[in-house]
Amino acid sequence: MATTPSRDVAARLGEAFADYAPSAEGRDIVTIRPEYGLVIGGAERPAADGATITTIDPSTGDALARVAEAGAADVDAAVAAARRAYDGAWGAASPRDRAKLLFRLARLLQDRAREFAVLETLDGGKPIREARDVDVPLAAQHLFYHAGWADKLEYAVPGMRARALGVVGQIIPWNFPLLMAAWKLAPALACGNTVVLKPAETSPLTALLLAELVDEAGFPPGVVNVVTGAGATGAALVDHPGVAKIAFTGSTAVGKGIRRALAGRGVRLTLELGGKGAHIVFDDAAIDQAIEGIVDGIFFNQGHVCCAGSRLLVQETVAGDVMERLRARMELLRVGDPLDKNTDVGAINSHSQLVRIREFVDGAVEEGCAVHQPSRGVPDAGFFYPPTLVTDVGGSERIAREEVFGPVLTVQSFRTEREAVDRANSTRYGLSAGVWTEKGARILWMADNLHAGVVWANTFNRFDAASPFGGVRESGFGREGGRHGLEAYLDLTPVRA
Ligand code: NAP
Ligand code: MG
Repeated sequence: MATTPSRDVAARLGEAFADYAPSAEGRDIVTIRPEYGLVIGGAERPAADGATITTIDPSTGDALARVAEAGAADVDAAVAAARRAYDGAWGAASPRDRAKLLFRLARLLQDRAREFAVLETLDGGKPIREARDVDVPLAAQHLFYHAGWADKLEYAVPGMRARALGVVGQIIPWNFPLLMAAWKLAPALACGNTVVLKPAETSPLTALLLAELVDEAGFPPGVVNVVTGAGATGAALVDHPGVAKIAFTGSTAVGKGIRRALAGRGVRLTLELGGKGAHIVFDDAAIDQAIEGIVDGIFFNQGHVCCAGSRLLVQETVAGDVMERLRARMELLRVGDPLDKNTDVGAINSHSQLVRIREFVDGAVEEGCAVHQPSRGVPDAGFFYPPTLVTDVGGSERIAREEVFGPVLTVQSFRTEREAVDRANSTRYGLSAGVWTEKGARILWMADNLHAGVVWANTFNRFDAASPFGGVRESGFGREGGRHGLEAYLDLTPVRA
């Protein structure tokens, strides 16, 4: 089993961090322990029944570490620890103390950015360039942003008295393990709640490392508890009577089940679910820039992105030109070792996700679609899938309707704005959309008429802690980020005049 920073990792990384400040402690790139326990009440412990799961490096299939698999008894212990902290030291902490600790956590994360980036890439398969330049800096940004709110909550919701909810259960997926942990923890803690966090089974390591920093920053024990495990662990958290709120990011199917499980229990719920984002290119757009946006929209993080632009809609007059340039651009994409800084598309997160992507594309061919993939292949070892275009799409095929969550883009054309909007909206999801056009009035009209929580114009996949993010329809409800994201973690009552 791999442990301390193997030379192999250092060699694979090459110059990826040449321009990076060395970590404060001068540590080696990353140390992976053979075993990790649950983090409950500030201490690490094995699962009560001794169960473990193994997390792997999906680019090689090699085991990275064994991680405790929490059962219902462990979830119960974690909720109890969170409750004690809420009734004790955390409840007594002043808003300014909460701010100070969150700022400290953000700084510690920045100090150890290299370590987090490498660990995220090893455990999840994403290109190191993305982990380094997107995941880790954005995670730190969320912590900084919410640290700023902690002692100013009365300005976030004027006219309302804001109180924390209590113990919140947070369940996150595998596609942005650290970033989703930060999105969840930062507002919950800023608002004065305590947390039981359940990371995804295939990528738990950065959340566990973040829990070490929570401790180092000086948060009281039990404010942040981490219960690693599989789906049953998440279900036990949802079922626990001691949680005041569940925040879930994951698939629509599991999200629906959670909503059913919570019905009638008075537990607050926010759901960030799947998507099938339309990426719309008009004939007056800057086509070269649009091509970069399309590529980023679907191949960033191997397409494991809830708000991916997975349905390309191109105005008929430029469809031929766009497709030609897109195919040429795809020839240049490097699929391979996620630790290589020149890699554009890393490893698919798990074998089961790879199988799912293959089934989608095979099914599309059976339904009469045409498939295009670049001429360079993909590595034999590990889980890889090439960037893929699916054309001859009518709209009723499974691949056009369901979320693939992989590097697969369907393409359709349209004539008018109305037709573009109708096609874009013909989905049960409503998370994201993108519009490429030079006309400002058209952007505003499209944004008004697209059913999506986020509409990007002449860009795609831009995130900012100050900007609320979330979906409509089967993409969920509730917002994360910005002032709106705070409300999900606060009990609000009107202040009497
Ligand atoms: P998932 O299967 O729904 O899992 C999400 C999390 O829920 C994981 O921690 C999972 O644990 C846990 N879980 C599984 N079954 C559960 C149950 N019955 N009760 C409670 N928790 C349970 O989703 P995923 O495959 O990890 O993630 C991909 C999905 O997330 C995609 O659909 C994507 O669109 C969505 N997503 C949405 C957003 C957004 O902001 N809207 C952001 C990122 C991803 P295990 O890992 O152990 O199964
Ligand atoms: Mg893993």
